[in-house]
Amino acid sequence: MRLLTHNLLICPVHKKPLAIRNVSAVDIIPVEYQPRFLLRMIPRLDWSLLRAAAVSVESDCVDALPEAAPSPSELPALEKAVESGDRLPLLDALQRLLLETHVVGGQLHCEHGEFYVIADGIPNLLADAAVNPSETASEQAACTTEGS
Ligand SMILES: [Zn+2]
Repeated sequence: MRLLTHNLLICPVHKKPLAIRNVSAVDIIPVEYQPRFLLRMIPRLDWSLLRAAAVSVESDCVDALPEAAPSPSELPALEKAVESGDRLPLLDALQRLLLETHVVGGQLHCEHGEFYVIADGIPNLLADAAVNPSETASEQAACTTEGS
């Protein structure tokens, strides 16, 4: 799952963004540099979610991401720089994070407590695939009681 895909995903039950947790595997797969596409994506991104995702996958691009997304009024200047062939550190970071960083194994956590498993790079976001830790905990408690 690319971080671009992750940024656009929501919890199937609560329609909320999902936090990447317990990452077990990440792949970096280089693709052709796409600065114009990345510029067009900036206004659509959940920037704080992207920053959190970059931390979750321990990307070395974290420091290249400003705290807030470039504002719409800043985009024309960035566009101009791209057209004149400049490499911008911000777009290099977005290229690496959004297009080239794949979460292969991990979990997607909803703020309501349940989570969804990412296996072989594919997040299982079917509502009935949600793992509810409180239910799991009570099942475990029941087993412990039986055993003792
Ligand atoms: Zn949810």
